[in-house]
Amino acid sequence: MEAKVPETTEETLDPGDWDGLQSLAHQVVDDAIAHVRNVRDRPVWRDMPAEVRDAFTASAPSHPQPLADVYHELHELLMPYPMGNIHPRFWMWYMGAGSVTGALAEFLAAIDGSNLGGGNNAAALMDRQVVDWLRQMTGFPDSAGGTLVSGGSMANIIGLTAARNAMAGIDVRSEGVAAMPQPLRFYGSDQLHSCHQKAVELLGLGNKALRRVPTGPDFRMDVSALEDMIAEDRNAGFRPACVIATAGTVNTGAIDDLPGINALCRKEGLWFHVDGCIGALIAIAPENRHLVSGLEMADSIALDPHKWLHVPFEAGCALVRDATTHRNTFAVHPEYLEGKPRGIAACEYLHDYNLQTSRAFRALKIWLTLKEHGIDKFGRLINQNIAQARYLSGLIERTPDLQLVAPTAINIVCFRHDPGARPEAELCDLNTEIMLRMQETGVAAVSDTSVAGHHCLRVAICNHRTRREDLDLLVQEVSRIGGVLVRGESAGAGNAIDPSAAEK
Ligand SMILES: *Cc1c(COP(=O)(O)O)cnc(C)c1O
Repeated sequence: MEAKVPETTEETLDPGDWDGLQSLAHQVVDDAIAHVRNVRDRPVWRDMPAEVRDAFTASAPSHPQPLADVYHELHELLMPYPMGNIHPRFWMWYMGAGSVTGALAEFLAAIDGSNLGGGNNAAALMDRQVVDWLRQMTGFPDSAGGTLVSGGSMANIIGLTAARNAMAGIDVRSEGVAAMPQPLRFYGSDQLHSCHQKAVELLGLGNKALRRVPTGPDFRMDVSALEDMIAEDRNAGFRPACVIATAGTVNTGAIDDLPGINALCRKEGLWFHVDGCIGALIAIAPENRHLVSGLEMADSIALDPHKWLHVPFEAGCALVRDATTHRNTFAVHPEYLEGKPRGIAACEYLHDYNLQTSRAFRALKIWLTLKEHGIDKFGRLINQNIAQARYLSGLIERTPDLQLVAPTAINIVCFRHDPGARPEAELCDLNTEIMLRMQETGVAAVSDTSVAGHHCLRVAICNHRTRREDLDLLVQEVSRIGGVLVRGESAGAGNAIDPSAAEK
């Protein structure tokens, strides 16, 4: 006699009520579209009340709740309190402004569910295609390899790892950095993004191996100082290995002399890496592409589709001029990931170009967005942001009490409220207070920085929703709040730069 099979109690994450899920999903999409459509009517940012902060300290749920209730909670707790970067007046840290198409693509990528570590599937083909499109957009040759990564920081790490391995003088993958005959030296300007420090630390070279080359009044790398530093390092027994040029610095948008640095790298036998997180895509903007000419001569490029292509986070891209060098930097072949002649594993493994094994399907949001709008439109949007920054700079020059602190190279404007005859420290307090009041009232989000020892407000216009009227409003508000603070001070109303001082 056969034993009686016990009744199963197998579970799944799929819903018991597919129709209910379907109508909730429709609701989510309707709410999402309204959220983006009405963004201009909301403040850029607002601080969270205590109830909201407290809600995020609740412990992990062990029991189920209806999805509709949980979604309702999200609507109350999350959606009203974003960073603000999808708003037309967000010009703070450097990032894109997102789009509904990008969000739909994220949803579809998750529904497809493919893991882009590799595999014989359409998602992997799309990943290759998108990398190839980005390669073409930068003018790189078709010998190049590339990979989509989380963002610019990772893209730079990919490029700099290829550089280190190619320049090490030994098989550094097998022997390690301690076996290198001469310590390597990398070079970047004193305006270099902080991710490069993390990269050289991670690569085992140490922060001291990354020499900071001085910049001129235009905040571009001084190429003759670079040449001197290379000679000095050679004499001291180091091996000059790589120059990191920046196409669009994060402080002021300065673009290093790419042809000049390329020529020096060729003469000296150095790897030429371009951090193009901000500026590489200017190559698709007809009126401005001359600013980044020379980019196409690099050995590696880092770029950031979650900036000027406005796809949702995360999306960066590393391109290496020689695909074999790129692959040799990362490829490994464990027995559990062997390719097969047919079937699901009949593929080139995409993780061979990358540090990650499992990889998000980042290509879909770039693919969908580029197909919907076409590359030419993105070129026009880049031109538009650069023109807006020039417009803003003009307004600042014509406004008494406002002063440009750095030349406007592309889409970043550095300026400050300067009522005259004040020490730096006071100007710093004054402008910081202006910045914070604009954030707290939700009128505009700008950041602050310091260039050549001057504290200033920094407006980075990487935003397809910004209009010139938004910049008019910014200038009005900076002048108005600055005036209020300065008058409060001279009326003897205590310290006007006190955040608690009432605004009159
Ligand atoms: C944004 C940026 C980075 C870092 O990119 P993430 O996408 O934030 O990781 C690196 N370099 C420059 C010049 C940048 O503007």
